[in-house]
Amino acid sequence: MSKKKDPLALSTLALHGAADPRHAGDPVVPPIVQSVNYVQEIGSADGLRYTRYANTPNVERLQKRLAMLEGAEGALLLGSGMAATACAMLTLLRPGDHLLSSSLIYGGTHRLFTEEFVGLGIDVTLVNPFEPREWRKKMRKTTRAIFLESPVNPTTRVVDFRPVSALTHENGLALVVDSTFASPVNFRPLEHGADVVIHSATKYLNGHHDVLGGVVIGTDSYIQEVRQKMMLWGAAPDPFACWLLERGVKTLDVRVQRQNTNAQRIAEWCTGAKAIRKVHYPGLTTHPDHTVAAATLDGYGGMMAIELAGGARATERFLKRLRIFTHAASLGGVDSLVSEPRYTSHTHMTSEARARIGIPDGFLRISVGIEDADDLIADLEQALK
Ligand SMILES: *Cc1c(COP(=O)(O)O)cnc(C)c1O
Repeated sequence: MSKKKDPLALSTLALHGAADPRHAGDPVVPPIVQSVNYVQEIGSADGLRYTRYANTPNVERLQKRLAMLEGAEGALLLGSGMAATACAMLTLLRPGDHLLSSSLIYGGTHRLFTEEFVGLGIDVTLVNPFEPREWRKKMRKTTRAIFLESPVNPTTRVVDFRPVSALTHENGLALVVDSTFASPVNFRPLEHGADVVIHSATKYLNGHHDVLGGVVIGTDSYIQEVRQKMMLWGAAPDPFACWLLERGVKTLDVRVQRQNTNAQRIAEWCTGAKAIRKVHYPGLTTHPDHTVAAATLDGYGGMMAIELAGGARATERFLKRLRIFTHAASLGGVDSLVSEPRYTSHTHMTSEARARIGIPDGFLRISVGIEDADDLIADLEQALK
């Protein structure tokens, strides 16, 4: 359920949403309040503040701001993206309940559902989100929620939300979306029928490769329940992480806009490069989901992938020659990164199994940063020579 749209644009809200009014002599940047506990009123439980409750000054302002960016009532910040997913889902599911999840999800989330949740007595069925009729076929009387991620890692496929959101609304299920790859600049799932949005704030929201965090976004009443889980499982964020994240969020819009244009330019350049066999980017008309992406996304994103014509043997030489792109996992920050899913997210699969899901050896995932696009293209060009 999305809230009435704020009259201010996202780029303005990212700086000023939920900010306290400033008076003469106030610092322009709100300070870090690095205190775990707070003086309490005598004779009352009201106003009990504690860092593990995520109700201290640095975190409260940021939570309100993040809710505004997604057009939601409430948001809860947690210590990591995994903490956000775990607490969000444990609020919706009890032993005996059934979860329908996309099979194309972050590796940590996949293990959380199929190992931890199954161990707790929650039934989990994985569905290929590009076979939309499967959702209804796999639904049970005990199904409580559907979990999706889009765009999908690392192939950048974009999921069409219409069949899934129709199904969840007909059947009173919760639609939960991990929107880490899109960021609220490019896609706001609540506008497309989602009930809950999750981000690994570690990625685009912070955007500087230096903070671990997660956020759950939804109705106020739901967020209060997730907060109870977070308090008891001990997954709250630290004030310094919140302070850094607040700083990162200020530039979210300019960073992501730049990443969108950089990625589009690089993807187009790669399309004409002989040493590259295939380019995966939703902004290319050749991408299998280009129409869905054009209709639903405000930007095609900073994530793309390429397959080298020389296959697996060509990647090592190419990676060693890169000067600006850094060979590292994770994504969404200002530095351009490149990684090989066969050694990161998809190491547990055989080469053949990876190839079957569209990740042959020689497949490279690129997280485009905010450097100059010409410099990035020149770096790719010299490394491919
Ligand atoms: C990184 C990531 C996560 C996990 O987030 P952490 O902050 O590392 O715990 C979850 N989902 C997606 C899509 C991610 O990229």
